[in-house]
This record gives sequence, structure tokens and C-alpha cells, in this order.
Amino acid sequence: MRRVSIFGATGSIGQNTIDLIARAPQDYDVVALSGSGNIAQLAKDARRLKADVAVTADETRLEDLRAALAGSGVEATAGQVALDEAASRPADWVMSAIVGSAGLRPGLRALEQGAVLALANKESLVCAGELILRTARENNTRLLPVDSEHSAVFQGLVGEDMSAVERIIITASGGAFRDWPLEALKHATLAEASSHPNWDMGQRITIDSASMFNKALELIETKEYFGVRANQIETIVHPESLIHAIVGFVDGALMAHVGPPDMRHAIGYALHYPERRDLPVARLNLAQIAQLTFVEPDLRRYPALRLARNVMERGGLSGAVFNAAKERALDAFIAGRIGFLDMAEVVEEVLTRFEADPGRIDAAMTLDNVMQTDHLARERADQVMEERAG
Ligand code: NAD
Ligand code: MG
Repeated sequence: MRRVSIFGATGSIGQNTIDLIARAPQDYDVVALSGSGNIAQLAKDARRLKADVAVTADETRLEDLRAALAGSGVEATAGQVALDEAASRPADWVMSAIVGSAGLRPGLRALEQGAVLALANKESLVCAGELILRTARENNTRLLPVDSEHSAVFQGLVGEDMSAVERIIITASGGAFRDWPLEALKHATLAEASSHPNWDMGQRITIDSASMFNKALELIETKEYFGVRANQIETIVHPESLIHAIVGFVDGALMAHVGPPDMRHAIGYALHYPERRDLPVARLNLAQIAQLTFVEPDLRRYPALRLARNVMERGGLSGAVFNAAKERALDAFIAGRIGFLDMAEVVEEVLTRFEADPGRIDAAMTLDNVMQTDHLARERADQVMEERAG
């Protein structure tokens, strides 16, 4: 039996992971499940999967979680310290599916106790790529990518030598607004930004797909995970979302990964790696699909892609600044305080202000420095938004 834990178990990736595990409960010994607000779901899954512990990140919900787990034998805990403690419990495979930089610390704890870390939480790599890769190395374990594009690249690299890789092409669906006129984007509403044409995901990543901040994070994630140069990474709009990524080799060959837009493929690949097992995903009928489309991304429409390039060139802790500013700008958009196009302007302004403080960007990549920078960037983003509003 493999010991597994799932952080962010109540979210979209978490629920898809549970779907796979629940199909073969005899194969897994579930150690920890975490969530935040959705106590009923967390308790239901913890009971069903007989987890050792269920953790809610929301300290104020401990009593609710205890009540929901009464008589089940599942331990209930709450808060940041409890989350870290649960991530430190020995497990063989840990799913990192919390959204945002809040996922970094539990991911590090899981690596420190030697678990293989299945990483959906792309923010970890964006904020602290070097730190998380180093932690994996030092503990003789590894990360497995779960983001669909990165799982696709990873699969394209099996048996290949990195020195033979010329470029990596990350596809983008174009999100909810790919066919909107540019001027209309200014007035895009929360509801409009929260529906994705191809993928069923959490609200935050869905909005990030519409703005291409998700793709921006993924470009940085590609650089960090695969150790390629920024100028080897390309992105192309591919509205069908059937090719997830393409690896280009020095001999001119392109290896594309094709599959249905279902995260259970990438999750299942990471769960069974290095084996391939039967997965409950649709089989594509190519004749029915008939054709695939590719369009050059319009950088005026997607300033986030330009910002990602700057971050990749700058390196250091600029990824932590970029991600934190983006998280705050997204909070403000969700709260109705800023418009859709304001998000990129706020992030750009925060990055510019940090340029005046190069010592911070170039500080050593320790967890403390990353979290401090994350905190500062959130404050600066709030400042920028207040100034713009006033
Ligand atoms: P989601 O919003 O559906 O779920 C987020 C999970 O994190 C929930 O369990 C929630 O309770 C928990 N959470 C939220 N804030 C937290 C906090 N401050 N502390 C601790 N826990 C917290 O998100 P999702 O769509 O499942 O995405 C999860 C991660 O996976 C994100 O990093 C996302 O970018 C990445 N990802 C998602 C998809 C997808 O298809 N959904 C695809 C690729 C990558
Ligand atoms: Mg992705």
C-alpha cells in the first residue's frame, strides 16, 4: 500500500486526485487531506478514504471539522502549523494542490520527509523554483509535474537527453476572451472571466487563464522545472486544448502530447509514474476532431506574457514578486475593486517598484526571504491599487 497525502483536497485538482484514488482504495493508505472552507467535503472524503488526519487551513473552522468527523477515527486539525505538521507526516506520494503561494511551505515539508511531490501548485516553482528543486535533491526525492503542459513536456522527454532539446512550446487555449475585441476586455466582468471554454478548474486559475496570467506562470514554471533558457520557451494559442505541449529537438523533430482536456491524465501519470496505467479519460477520435488550430498570441491582448519574459530574464526573487502581486490583483478583481485589464498594470507597477530595490530581488532563495518578499509584494500591490483608486 502506498501512503499518500493530498493538500488542497477539496479543490478541482484535489477532487480529481481523490477520484483516481477512490477507484482503487486497496492500493492506498491515505495519510492527510487538507482543505480550507469546504468542511463538509473535506470530512466526507476523509471518512470515505479513512485518512489519518484532515486539516483545514482555516483555524476558525476547527470545531466544525471536529463535529463533522465525530466518531470516524479521523483526527481533525486546523491552521498553518497543523498544515505543516500534516505535510511532515511520512508519506510516499504527496499531491500539492493548494492554490497560491500558500502551497509552498507544505510542499517543502513533504519533500523534507522524502515524499515524491506531485506538483499542481505551479506557484511554488514560480516563487521559489531553486529552493524547491534543491529541497527535493537534498532529500533524495523528486517533483513530478501535474500541470497539463508540464506533464506533457515531461512525457515528451522520457528517454531523451536535455542537451538535445532546442525549444519547448507551451500551448494556451486563449481562455474565456480569446475572441473578444480588445476594447471590450476593459469591461469584462467576474462572471465572464470565470468560465473557461475547455477546462473545468478552480475559479482563480480560470480567471488567470482569461488574462493569460496562468500561461505566464506556466512559462516561468517551464524554465524552473526543466532548466531551459527563457529564449527556448515559446507559447502558442491552440483553442482546442488537445495538444498540451510540444518539445522541439535539435534535429527538427517536434514531439507533441495530445489528449483530452482532463486533468486526471496528468494526475494519473504522476500517480503511477514511471508506469502507465489505464485511466478513466476519454479516448480522442481524431477523424471527428478533424483539425487543430494554432494562432500567434497577441502581446497587446496578453501583457502578462510580456511580464513573464521580464521575470524569466531577471530571475532571483522576481518570480515571488510577480506571483504575489498577481494574487493580490486577482483578489481585487474578484472583489470588484479593479477591472480586468488593471490586473496586469498593477503587477507591472509592482515589478517596477521592486527594481529600485535590487538587493531584495537578488537575496538568497531561502523560505524566509521568499515569504517576506511575497508579503512585501502584496503590500506594494495594495499600495499601488490605493494610489490608482485615489
Ligand atoms: P481550487 O480553488 O479548486 O482548490 C484550491 C484548494 O486549495 C482547495 O482545497 C482550498 O481549500 C485550498 N486552499 C485555498 N486557499 C488556501 C490557503 N490559503 N491555505 C491552504 N489551503 C488553501 O484550485 P485548483 O483549480 O484545484 O488549483 C489548485 C492548484 O493547481 C493551483 O496552483 C492551480 O494553478 C493548479 N492547477 C490547477 C489545474 C486545474 O485544472 N484545476 C490545472 C493545472 C494546475
Ligand atoms: Mg496548465
